[in-house]
Amino acid sequence: MPFGLFEKKEPEPKCPYCNVVLPKFPGAKTKCKACGKYYYARRRPSTMKKSIVTEEELSVVEKEWETYFLAKPEYISAKKELERLLNREPSFYEIKSWVNEKISLGKEQEALKSDPNFIAMKKDLAVQFGRNPSIFEVRWELLNKELVKNRSNKDWGLYCCVKHKMGELLKSEGQFEESLAMFFQVAYLDTQGCNNVGGIPIENVNSPFKEFEPNNYPLGVGVLFEIKDLLDLLKIPKEKAKTIFIKVNEEAKPYQELPIPTDSAWRKLAKEIYVN
Ligand SMILES: [Zn+2]
Repeated sequence: MPFGLFEKKEPEPKCPYCNVVLPKFPGAKTKCKACGKYYYARRRPSTMKKSIVTEEELSVVEKEWETYFLAKPEYISAKKELERLLNREPSFYEIKSWVNEKISLGKEQEALKSDPNFIAMKKDLAVQFGRNPSIFEVRWELLNKELVKNRSNKDWGLYCCVKHKMGELLKSEGQFEESLAMFFQVAYLDTQGCNNVGGIPIENVNSPFKEFEPNNYPLGVGVLFEIKDLLDLLKIPKEKAKTIFIKVNEEAKPYQELPIPTDSAWRKLAKEIYVN
């Protein structure tokens, strides 16, 4: 049951339009049985108490929350960072998701600090660089190590996953172009139908199990979302996106010829990202 702030409800909830006494405090959006209008339960930042508001008041409360959050230091610095990256005024939604992404990244990094692989790599890099490496540098090297291993094992599915993680890491660092290039590689690999063959013993080399098996499955939702997001963020038009996609994938091939050529792979991707 509700606790803390939720308990401090008004003693007698009333419809904010017609004042009729309501049977109970509403959960969220509710239609008044007496007047047929919708009312909402919202907490206000000024009182931190929940109250019942009209549709019009709802937008006022939402504005109040925006003002409340935008005064917080993490929102202020996120806003500045985004202004610089986007070259325009970011929306509140963009700032909020940026902050949330940073928070989840922070938690992840906190957990990393006790990971033995992370600790070992940090030590290695410190020796190599002659200084303390950044968290980004350590994570990047760990992913690189994994990538090399997957490549030599021909574990292309895993290889593709690591590329995806690299794309996310670059994005979290604000390296959007590099991130897009990485996600383009993921999409390209995705069209090839990547298999993991590392576990197959040598006597089975003639097994029908192939490294790449193209299929008609749609591309992964995650990679599509990232690509759409980055193309939008960087304001890259379709023709330019195609050029980048082909260039990146022609240059980045760490494997022999792949069954699906870059231009067909682009057509498959374009079909999915340019639907309205
Ligand atoms: Zn009413």
